[in-house]
Amino acid sequence: MSTFQLTYATMFDPPEELHTRYEAALAEARATLGAEYGMTINGEEVYAKHTFKSHNPANTEEILGLFQTGTAEDAENAVAAAKAAFPTWSRTPWQERVQLLNKAADIIDERIFDIAAATSLEVSKNRMEALGDVAEAPALIRWACDEMERNQGFVTKMGEDPLVGYHARNYSVLRPYGVWLVISPFNFPAALTGGPVGAALVAGNTVVMKPATDTPWTVRLLAECFVDAGLPEGAVNYVTGSGSVLGQALVDSPDLDGLTFTGSYDVGMGIFRSFAQGKYIRPTILELGGKNPAIVSRHADVECAALGIVRSAFGLQGQKCSACSRVYIEEPLYDQTVDRIVELTSELRVGDPTDRSTYMGPVVNSWAYRDFLTFSDELREAGTILTGGEVLTEGDFINGYFCSPTIAADVPLEHRLWKHEMFLPITLVHKVESLEEAMALANDVDYGLTSGFYGDEEEASWFFDNTQAGVNYANRPQGATTGAWPGFQPFGGWKGSGSSGKNAGGYYYLQLYMHEQIQTLIE
Ligand code: NAP
Repeated sequence: MSTFQLTYATMFDPPEELHTRYEAALAEARATLGAEYGMTINGEEVYAKHTFKSHNPANTEEILGLFQTGTAEDAENAVAAAKAAFPTWSRTPWQERVQLLNKAADIIDERIFDIAAATSLEVSKNRMEALGDVAEAPALIRWACDEMERNQGFVTKMGEDPLVGYHARNYSVLRPYGVWLVISPFNFPAALTGGPVGAALVAGNTVVMKPATDTPWTVRLLAECFVDAGLPEGAVNYVTGSGSVLGQALVDSPDLDGLTFTGSYDVGMGIFRSFAQGKYIRPTILELGGKNPAIVSRHADVECAALGIVRSAFGLQGQKCSACSRVYIEEPLYDQTVDRIVELTSELRVGDPTDRSTYMGPVVNSWAYRDFLTFSDELREAGTILTGGEVLTEGDFINGYFCSPTIAADVPLEHRLWKHEMFLPITLVHKVESLEEAMALANDVDYGLTSGFYGDEEEASWFFDNTQAGVNYANRPQGATTGAWPGFQPFGGWKGSGSSGKNAGGYYYLQLYMHEQIQTLIE
């Protein structure tokens, strides 16, 4: 294990020890099923009047845990706790904050198998995807810590202005905002909660985190790591409940100083608009959806392209913001590439995500399952389903939201599903006459998260120059549009896919959690 670094691009051939440790953790996680979990507010375990059940999407009869249905009052208490903790935490020397956050990252690493087992059960991630999600959280936290160190706490001496008879000492200091809200999506509960929480905290903000209703367990286990690292009470708070009640109450709090929301375009834009109702503008980091294209040139390596496209289309059941949902192929290689994509797709193993040989588990909930049926019907009517298009209901599939990986062709370009983020294991393919035509179609959406390309190097450079997306890959068999890792591929979107224009896990991200103060002293 020591020489193996798990990333989304290295997960295909892991060492054996990884499997045995995951299986042991899974058995332990299963032994706790049905337990009740509180919220963590001001260091206290808090219980609400009502609870909700978290179900296993692979077997909806299995209840994973009971979680608190947090209310507007809980939102108020969590924000108040974070506000009270801010003066002390923000004045804690940055070196100490870095030390504590690095400790939290170490604890997550120590518990990676336990947390990943919970993630597999509640999101139906296969074991490698679950481990990858959890491993990304400490990677992002450490990245933020390293950036704080590399920039020496963001205290920068500026030039001395040429004042006659005086001596001026000028400093630029980046300082935290205050109380920071982190709202995360169901599909990467560990990385997309842990990453922003780590950045906000190391910058000196205090935090309230709210996970998706589908993934309270993973985030609870993650929150415990921050608490166990020794962060002061109130610096990090964990609340659970619905987005529309608890989430909205948090967003509406006048005591909030900034937020990071990762989730769908519609919910994110709603939050952006309601957060703008405050007395003044507060920082709003939005990481939103995608409709990610892959382009295959006539000079592409067909095997490489087909592998990358299939992995990106169907990893985590197509429920990645970076999933490849559109493929444009130049005419000379169209038939050959599509045949290979269909062949690889029909070989994917769908099943219980905790089984070693499973590639695709079920989709996350009944809404996603219903959407799959609706979209498949629409595509069948508008074009041709080359493989898939069915839900799986027999035998082991009877109690889960299992769908077959689906490729559709001949769908008219005016069809709404060319532009709508389906967030399901469905990908559309289309024949083009030229790369220019492919690029025009690829860019003709409101999203701009990731994109992929297969062709020669000169074409790849043209692709990078012309694609309108934040994260782009050329000739990558590990994933056409997926597989970003902090430090290698900082992750973020253009256009409707993100608000800041700066990518998480990159050099310009941590600064988003601080405002600049200039300090001029005439000595
Ligand atoms: P979602 O439905 O938009 O929910 C995201 C989060 O927002 C959940 O915690 C949800 O809570 C909460 N929420 C819902 N309504 C709210 C409100 N009015 N106020 C405050 N919070 C509210 O997204 P999802 O289905 O969980 O995740 C999938 C989406 O996330 C896709 O669009 C995907 O592309 C996007 N995503 C983007 C990135 C990126 O980096 N760009 C990464 C991953 C995912 P409840 O669950 O309780 O409703």
